[in-house]
Amino acid sequence: MQSSLIPFDSLALAPAVDDGALHEACGVFGIYAPGEEVARLTFYGLYALQHRGQESAGIATSDGLMLHVRTGMGLVAQVFEEDDLHHLPGQIAIGHTRYSTTGGSRICNAQPIHVHGSAGELALGHNGNLVNAEQIRLEMEAQGHEFETSTDSEVIAKMLSTSSAGTLEDRLREVVRRVEGAYSLVILTPTSLIAVRDPMGNRPLCLGRIGEGWVVASETCALDNLGARYVREVDPGEIIIVDRNGLRSIPVPERHVRDAFCIFELIYFARPDSIIRDKRVYPIRMAMGRELAREHPVDADVVIGVPDSATAAAIGYARASGIPYDEGLIKNRYVGRTFIAPDQRIREAGVQLKFNPIREMLEGKRVVVVDDSIVRGTTTPHVVKLLREAGAREVHMRICAPQITDPCYFGVDMATTRELIGAHMDVEAVRRHIGADSLGHLSMEGLIRATGMAAESFCLACFTGDYPIPVQLSLDKFGLERTREPQLVALSASL
Ligand code: SF4
Repeated sequence: MQSSLIPFDSLALAPAVDDGALHEACGVFGIYAPGEEVARLTFYGLYALQHRGQESAGIATSDGLMLHVRTGMGLVAQVFEEDDLHHLPGQIAIGHTRYSTTGGSRICNAQPIHVHGSAGELALGHNGNLVNAEQIRLEMEAQGHEFETSTDSEVIAKMLSTSSAGTLEDRLREVVRRVEGAYSLVILTPTSLIAVRDPMGNRPLCLGRIGEGWVVASETCALDNLGARYVREVDPGEIIIVDRNGLRSIPVPERHVRDAFCIFELIYFARPDSIIRDKRVYPIRMAMGRELAREHPVDADVVIGVPDSATAAAIGYARASGIPYDEGLIKNRYVGRTFIAPDQRIREAGVQLKFNPIREMLEGKRVVVVDDSIVRGTTTPHVVKLLREAGAREVHMRICAPQITDPCYFGVDMATTRELIGAHMDVEAVRRHIGADSLGHLSMEGLIRATGMAAESFCLACFTGDYPIPVQLSLDKFGLERTREPQLVALSASL
């Protein structure tokens, strides 16, 4: 068992029905398409990215002279009505769906953020998390700049809109050189659409064509929704500007660190129909299931997945093991990705509404149940209990990832070290905690093999504690120092 400052068992966690899941940070979308109804297209793009954040949504458009912005709390379809789209004129637009990681779940933190500064007017949508935002904010406040929200995204927006650097390109380069952390950005000025991806390429961002226009989005599923054609990913550290002169790419070569794409995009966050790094996510998840079956075989009668993110992996497990696949749990798809708001009371009520077991598929059977991850270890016991109550004779839990031992600083609302069950218990202790007959985690080697990509190109920090850039040692919400020092790996000499 790994060491901890306070035994995990002594923590006052909600009994068995906390939301133990991972949460995504945001979805971003942008479009430059003269002659098209860009606000409507952005609405449908955001609709496809709803799984990346359900707290708030927003669209900003430019009519060529000034920006128009609408934001609201809730799902995309709740925030926008037909009439709203009529108040968003123009030929360029950006949009955003939000799950809060920095800043609370409040309307003032909804995006796109809209700012006016000495360098002009702009709107900005951000997916990710900066690790040096506080430091930059303090410096800017000391220079007399005021902030209206508590988000790190406003720090970027203010840097761009108040910078004294000459051209727009200069200001963007300055931002990429200065800010540290994870960011996929869409930025709207009165005359241009801008997309920026951090030098690690930590969060996804892709580029597509729609007629003679251009689209950028967190995932390709948003392009498919519009009938847009996928062109390529925005490269790590790349700045793309689209305006009336066409599209131009501005690399910031001196700022390149190693690629560190978040592997949880492939395990859980991205929609299975999206293409990430030129590969469809669904077959990658099936391969995770096949690797799991090889690493953790068991005699059983049926394989089920915890819907929806583990379904493909469960099918992969079933095919590799020869054990039939069936649906044993039905998810209520109308409660949102996990819950609409990350509030503890809502979470406790919400998990009860989330899954319903199908007794006929489970009764008297030895069940393999595949899930994507165990984070706090509070949802999984509930799932195991549901299956046993529905008559499962044995429950064998299989997880598509190694144990999560370290928190995420890059925009995934995971948990503090103290809350992570894998930081405090070994696999056997977790098995007892969740009440399963057996528990098997996919190894790092098996996980990487399933992706078919190079291990060095991923961020794996929540399994290893090896962060791809330095992160500030900070206090968690209990005032305890995080139990593992962040480490510096593979940094370029320019840092
Ligand atoms: Fe993704 Fe984990 Fe890295 Fe966060 S720490 S970016 S969740 S791999």
